[in-house]
Amino acid sequence: MWESYESQISRKPITQPRIIIHGGAGNIRPETMPPERYQLFRASLLTIISKSHRFLLNPLPDGSLPTALDSATYAVTLLEDDPLYNAGRGAVFTRDGINELEASIMITNPTRWPKRGVGVSGLRRVKNPIKLAAELLKRGGQDLVGKGVAVEDVEGAEGRLNVPSAQGHTHLHGAAAEQLAEAYGLELVDPSYFWTKDRWEQHRRGLEREKAMAELTCSGLHGCGTPAGTASWSSDEFIPQGTVGAVVVDAYGTVCVATSTGGLTNKLTGRIGDTPTVGAGFWAEEWLEELEGQKAGSSSCPAVVLSGALKGLVADCLSTPRMYQLGSSSPKRVVTKRAIAVSGTGNGDSFLRTTAARTVGAIAQFGKESGAVALTKVTGPGGELQRSAGDRWGKTGEGEGGMIGIECIVVYDGDGNAVESRSEILQDFNCGGMLRAWVDEQGVAFMRVFRKDPALAAKYVGEGIPEDPQNWCGEKL
Ligand code: ASP
Repeated sequence: MWESYESQISRKPITQPRIIIHGGAGNIRPETMPPERYQLFRASLLTIISKSHRFLLNPLPDGSLPTALDSATYAVTLLEDDPLYNAGRGAVFTRDGINELEASIMITNPTRWPKRGVGVSGLRRVKNPIKLAAELLKRGGQDLVGKGVAVEDVEGAEGRLNVPSAQGHTHLHGAAAEQLAEAYGLELVDPSYFWTKDRWEQHRRGLEREKAMAELTCSGLHGCGTPAGTASWSSDEFIPQGTVGAVVVDAYGTVCVATSTGGLTNKLTGRIGDTPTVGAGFWAEEWLEELEGQKAGSSSCPAVVLSGALKGLVADCLSTPRMYQLGSSSPKRVVTKRAIAVSGTGNGDSFLRTTAARTVGAIAQFGKESGAVALTKVTGPGGELQRSAGDRWGKTGEGEGGMIGIECIVVYDGDGNAVESRSEILQDFNCGGMLRAWVDEQGVAFMRVFRKDPALAAKYVGEGIPEDPQNWCGEKL
């Protein structure tokens, strides 16, 4: 059955391309986010979402449309190059004052790139970690059989690690990963490229706060009524958990998630977080669902009788312009493919302990929930992440975070032809705010940090206001 549906991939467009990006989540509140700083994020996010959306819709010389993999890599590269975010150029420091970068990428289907998902960590010299992750994924077909690029081919390779290719490995760390980056011709930089004043000051303040906390003689995390904090988190400051991410569905129904980070401020040197760890900070997968009842379709709808999670996503297809109509067919039977990809940001150790991203996928698949419900159960207020913090919630940053994602549903007739499709942008968080932007079904761009709240909308000009991406495709304002 899979072959029948997979053979459709990359032949003809079957759905409307969509994109959502994030620039981190955490203790973002009016007290920790001055309006001037908000405007910097707003201009950056709207510019990057608009450029990435244009990239996604721009046909390639052979007439095909860009893949979700290339589009998500493009978006995250722009985010990594902007020092506002805790990724690439603006990465945070470890306790030892070092930048150690991490990234990952994953796609929902294995047809073109069988490796599907990879993570990289412990990078000190790779300018754009996301490009390394993407390269490792694209080369997966060769790597899986041990025939990838030979590092001996690189000038001056003597005396270095024996890294003939990425092999079938899913996660590569440190020197081995950097050798492959060099072998692939990716740009390496001096570690000083990642030094920024803001991050250095946050690093120093964090260590001082930790020292001050240690000197308090009061018992308990909030014992003296003073603001709580650690070297990595503060109740009265937004210490960037500013990981960046992009989730894209391309015209061919593949969903890709790309995520990149400097990790937690003042993490231990050598710590590996959720961002490069499959299932914790990112996940992408697809599966088929046989529908409970089917009957012959009409020209306008395959008349599917939908079960569980699919109700409300596809069942209302006739009444909404959001459904991507693919022409008439007479299905003998109906099969639905659900694809979902999510990118997380927040306290990575909590994401690791709850395998947060994979849990979203599992709830959607085995719990028969919509992607939106599944994501909220994990990362929404009172969800699994918050629950995992126990009585430390609100005191250490544990459990805090958010996620973005896309669910794409394609309905196939009995001959394996896609007859209808629909995608849904997913987003939720359990903390003060999540920096995010997306393009809706009508091609309108939005940027938001908070939940809908008239008081916050008045304070933060532009919050949630519809924008024409065309107006944001130039350089950052
Ligand atoms: N999740 C990241 C980490 O813990 C931090 C972030 O999202 O900003 O490494």
